[in-house]
Amino acid sequence: MLKNISLLISIFLAFSLVAGCSSSGGELAAPATTTAAPDAGVVETTAVPATTAAPATTAASTTTTLSDEDKFINGLENAALAVEQGDNVFINCTVEAVGIDAAWSLLDMAPDEYSDNPLSVEDETALTACIDDIAVRRETAAHLDASWGATVSTSPEFFYASDVPEYSQSLLEEALLAATALWGNYGPLEYWVAGLDVAAAEDLGDQFCAKRVELGNLSSVADCLDWDHTPNFFVERAIDSSERIVNGWGGGDAGRNGNRQWGLHLYSSSYPICFAEPSICPFADDQKTVFHEYFHTVQHAFIATANWDLRDELMHRENIWWSEGGAEYMAQVGSQEMRNSGVLTASEWAPLPERFGWMIWDIQEWMSDNPGQSPSTIGYGDDGHVAYSYGAWAHAYLAFKFSPGVLLDSFYPNLNELGWEGAFANAYGMSSEEFIAEFDAFVSLSEETMLEIFS
Ligand SMILES: [Zn+2]
Repeated sequence: MLKNISLLISIFLAFSLVAGCSSSGGELAAPATTTAAPDAGVVETTAVPATTAAPATTAASTTTTLSDEDKFINGLENAALAVEQGDNVFINCTVEAVGIDAAWSLLDMAPDEYSDNPLSVEDETALTACIDDIAVRRETAAHLDASWGATVSTSPEFFYASDVPEYSQSLLEEALLAATALWGNYGPLEYWVAGLDVAAAEDLGDQFCAKRVELGNLSSVADCLDWDHTPNFFVERAIDSSERIVNGWGGGDAGRNGNRQWGLHLYSSSYPICFAEPSICPFADDQKTVFHEYFHTVQHAFIATANWDLRDELMHRENIWWSEGGAEYMAQVGSQEMRNSGVLTASEWAPLPERFGWMIWDIQEWMSDNPGQSPSTIGYGDDGHVAYSYGAWAHAYLAFKFSPGVLLDSFYPNLNELGWEGAFANAYGMSSEEFIAEFDAFVSLSEETMLEIFS
């Protein structure tokens, strides 16, 4: 399995070069690794692609003349473009159709060079099925593109392992619907939730893969079970959550795992411990987590492109303070507002300023351990939780200095057209570099002074 993934990634990288693209990750491989802010129960994770395998040598094939060469090469060009935009299904299909050696040979050249080094008739026939498959899927995706970013009237869909209690399901759905009421209902959206039982988690994985085939996202259940992140995630998280509960710990994993190419906001979550075991952690903690996750949908809904690299750039993914801090700030404030107004089930939690006070400790400890450095440079990884705290505070500061509405009324609506830096400068009247300098000075102030913006 791992070896197979390595080979696929090798080929993906090779094909990316053919297509003039250097993508090495993106929406499909998300969510990214971070640890959460001190008060945040849920930790987002990601699987990092394995290292690439050595390329196999090219196979000498029996050559033949194409019966419809132009059509075939056009199909290859279409496939190369799809791979550039993150379509792993075609890569997988190609390896299965013609074998790794021939796939490597094929993917090592530009589509218009194909006639100089054609495949055997048998392999070409097999590959034609992959090309036809991708053409159908791209046509479907083009149709979905027209509605990407628009709010929808359909409700999010929820899928649970059979051992997730009904009262926990109700609390989770209440929270997600409250978030859609607050920020707009972007969809279609699927939210998949693991339980504690491994067999139930495996059943949920089967259901997930059947859904992918039903919607035409993936070609077969077997492929999905073999290489899609989600079915394995359900099982791993069931084991992890069971251990947490035995130890009286909260926490878990949740993430938006894409998927722009499928025209879908797709989530997977571990067992929501705070919704299920309130003696361990308050409902409010999981309410905040659901709001945080849903805000990632809002961010992605404002980004039109299906290109992974450009999507990462517009999410400002390299330095995560912006997107993760935005989700954290909006979730802390938004879920508190909805609890206060009675939309969310009441739950005792530390007051908002106190929770932001916890984040200050996190930020200032890191700054003291890393003198002269800015938490704005932190990416996903061991120190990621500091970027969440720093970013949440950065958004709190911007909302205080300008207006809470600037983010959704100005920054995001201009993001596609102006790019991240342009949209930032347009919304806040300064470059991000100027802002970071100003904000780093602010987070060096005392906790008491910083918290004045919440008074
Ligand atoms: Zn997040």
